Amino acid sequence: MYLKNSKTIVIKIGSSLLINKKKTIRKKWLSEFCKDIKGLLDNKKNVIIVSSGAIALGCKKLNLNKKNLKLDKSQAVASVGQIELMNLFIKTFSSKKINLSQILLTLEDTEQRRRAINAKRTFENLFKLGFVPIVNENDSIATTEIKYGDNDRLASRVAQISSADCLILLSDVNGLYTKNPKVYSDAKLIRHIKNINSNIEEVATKSISEHGTGGMKTKIDAAKVCQISGCFMAIANGLSIRPIKKIFDKNNCTWFLPKVSKLDARKKWIISSIAPKGELIIDDGAVKALKKGKSLLAAGIKKVNGKFNKGDHIKVMDINMQEYARGLSSFTSDEISKIKGQHSNKIRELLGYITKSEVIHKDDMVEV
Ligand code: GLU
Repeated sequence: MYLKNSKTIVIKIGSSLLINKKKTIRKKWLSEFCKDIKGLLDNKKNVIIVSSGAIALGCKKLNLNKKNLKLDKSQAVASVGQIELMNLFIKTFSSKKINLSQILLTLEDTEQRRRAINAKRTFENLFKLGFVPIVNENDSIATTEIKYGDNDRLASRVAQISSADCLILLSDVNGLYTKNPKVYSDAKLIRHIKNINSNIEEVATKSISEHGTGGMKTKIDAAKVCQISGCFMAIANGLSIRPIKKIFDKNNCTWFLPKVSKLDARKKWIISSIAPKGELIIDDGAVKALKKGKSLLAAGIKKVNGKFNKGDHIKVMDINMQEYARGLSSFTSDEISKIKGQHSNKIRELLGYITKSEVIHKDDMVEV
């Protein structure tokens, strides 16, 4: 079962799960959901929660109606509501001793490789520290042009960046049906989707107009990102108590299956960038270390060719100028010129500031 086999799981919860139409916070639901998360953590899973609700909770606090809000006002409302949201999480999750952190992302953080890699490292470090990151869009800063606007697509990018095995979109429906289940009694829940063909797109579009919600389109967009990232994605009903346990027990949801393996997807993502910006020539010792799956350190670098920035795609050549690997540089070419051939503990002194020690992290490198 996909969820059981997943190590890193992203769960997206929408505002309607946290706060009902009468603007009452669904405290009982959240405390039950917290048990779900505790169960995952006890099973050694890494969990990221993508939660909406900043605007809804901000509206509640300020006694405003969400529908009449203009963008600039909604940004202020989100700023008020985001701490309400985190307070709600902290209060509830502390009862189970679950440590939480907050990450607010903008579109650029996930679309620009360098920022995306930074975000990945932050997630990894939070997992190591035993924290569950709660992610939302940075609604107080994002403007319409640079906004996701919906947390379905944001969650799929978070899943891609964090190399998650599985993304669960908790919604108010069981999943995608062959027809509108409220109208047709013979409508069937589609359990597995491998290809998002025109048929599926049509069913999803229809479910928008018939249910009167805009939700399915962005979920299909999210599924497309997951499919090319090697990540399983489920649309599942979050309204019930213990929705994650329910997926484990009943699996009554729609699963979108990935088209490529996670490793292939990541490698492709690394080497799919435009032409490499430069080269690093490394010594035999470094080649040996890379063969063992180690990161590239400054000590093994003999020469730097080209001008590049942090996060740029570069080639790694052996001493005979044979290309050995490609990867994303954690340093600029100027920085590497200063630290090449040196032990990592000298970097701080040579550059005058603290940085990472790997010039190319093993996760950002692909052997050619
Ligand atoms: N980021 C928005 C909020 O927290 C919600 C976006 C969505 O509903 O998908 O209020």
